Amino acid sequence: MFTCASCHVMACRTGQLDQMPKNCPMQDRELFDQVLQEYFKPENHDFFVASAAVEAIGYCRWPRLRETAEFARRMGYTRLGLAFCVGLRREAEVVDRLLRKQGFEVVSVACKTGSIPKDAAGIPPEYRVNPGQYEAMCDPIAQAELLNRAGTQFNICLGLCVGHDSLFYKYSKALVTTLVAKDRVTGNNPAAAIYCAEGYFKDRLDPDKP
Ligand code: SF4
Repeated sequence: MFTCASCHVMACRTGQLDQMPKNCPMQDRELFDQVLQEYFKPENHDFFVASAAVEAIGYCRWPRLRETAEFARRMGYTRLGLAFCVGLRREAEVVDRLLRKQGFEVVSVACKTGSIPKDAAGIPPEYRVNPGQYEAMCDPIAQAELLNRAGTQFNICLGLCVGHDSLFYKYSKALVTTLVAKDRVTGNNPAAAIYCAEGYFKDRLDPDKP
């Protein structure tokens, strides 16, 4: 089993391959040689190089929103998709405006599109957020399908819920980047709970506590 998350050697980072642990994924050199060829496929190569360019040029200066726009520009994309959560509708408006100002066409679709009640999709009443009120389900598959039909070249995920985002990634024909990962408790900064996992968030991260 691979356990990179608890490795303190980091031979992959330093290049000192003689130091690699016994269960290091790099023991299988053949796999890496095969995988390397994937980056040379026409559908991957420019995309991969543009990712590296944005990482290097804007390193520690460009926020992710700017990186996203710079990346899209380098790729020659003109039509972007924006799949957003209605809880971040104001943020979606800002992103939409900024991208349009830079010349992109932006097709945006809200998570509640379709306005299908949760029970129509088999979500039991105990999983309603506000029981007794009208509650439309999130519809990430429809968000993806609408963007597919609109022919977006690159899709931006803005604050979709855990799991809904996964379905959006699955059904989106265009590749997707996540601009905001939703976290209702940390102001959409999931890393805050990781940074404070031994402190302020200890109880909230404990599965045995409510
Ligand atoms: S790839 Fe190997 S050296 Fe790098 S973190 Fe994983 S186990 Fe450690």
